[in-house]
Amino acid sequence: MKRILLLSLLLTLLHAATAECLQFTAGNDTVRVLGECRSIAPGELLKITLLKPLDFRKAVLSFCGETWPFGNRKHPRPFLLAGIDPFDPPRTAEILVTVEFQDGTRRSLSVPLPVEETTFPKNALSVHPKFVDPDREDQERIRRDVESCRAAYRACEERWKGKGDFILPAGGRIGKNFGEERIFNDTLVSRHRGIDIGAKKGTPVKAANGGTVVLAEALHYGGKTVILDHGKGLHTVYCHLSKIRVKGGARVRKGQVLGSVGDTGRATGPHLHWGMTIRETAVNPLSVFSLSFP
Ligand SMILES: [Zn+2]
Repeated sequence: MKRILLLSLLLTLLHAATAECLQFTAGNDTVRVLGECRSIAPGELLKITLLKPLDFRKAVLSFCGETWPFGNRKHPRPFLLAGIDPFDPPRTAEILVTVEFQDGTRRSLSVPLPVEETTFPKNALSVHPKFVDPDREDQERIRRDVESCRAAYRACEERWKGKGDFILPAGGRIGKNFGEERIFNDTLVSRHRGIDIGAKKGTPVKAANGGTVVLAEALHYGGKTVILDHGKGLHTVYCHLSKIRVKGGARVRKGQVLGSVGDTGRATGPHLHWGMTIRETAVNPLSVFSLSFP
């Protein structure tokens, strides 16, 4: 029998050792979860750890209309990642955890998350006209790029491939420009789905954590681009590289050089565009530094 164990307002908000990590626990003696994030706001990554039960037949997390299994029940602290869509209007999001016990009974736990309001900056930029008004040939290329990226994001494994906490992929000036609304050449408006790290051409670009290369090729807008799959639906994206030093399908370690900073594609100068997606929802990659990983 499925029962909703209403959040017994045990939603204890605690501030962890790291100033920027918001932790909350919800549940009771039967089903209990720990949530961690930088903040409950658009474009933020959430880590949900199942604390109880320790023994189950199946446990799933539902968030924003999608459901994913917690996977290996032998893992002492199984976790999943989710992202708050950066461009959806603020609302109350719901985490729903459903557990099926060994005797077949089920319990569910609902955790409401009030999403804070966020405003993103606006910026006007000038680029080559081919990036605003692409000709027929470029339009065909853009269409192929979209398909390649989609295939890369879908080529994900649930198994976690990271090792420990994430690192910044390059040294340099870190832009606070995630979610920025951009007006290119006074006409095209687009949203910035990552952050820009200002660095000299040739600066090494490193894997932010362990993963598999699911895309390593030149794209019309992204220029020379690498996408890594870290497991559990999480990808990191590295764009505008001057050189790519890894091949599709390769396993990479945290800190391994993927390529070097450049200005290929739709770039106004040398920098690394660093993106992060969780199950194809773009999140601010800086939000990953509030979370700890096994
Ligand atoms: Zn960028």
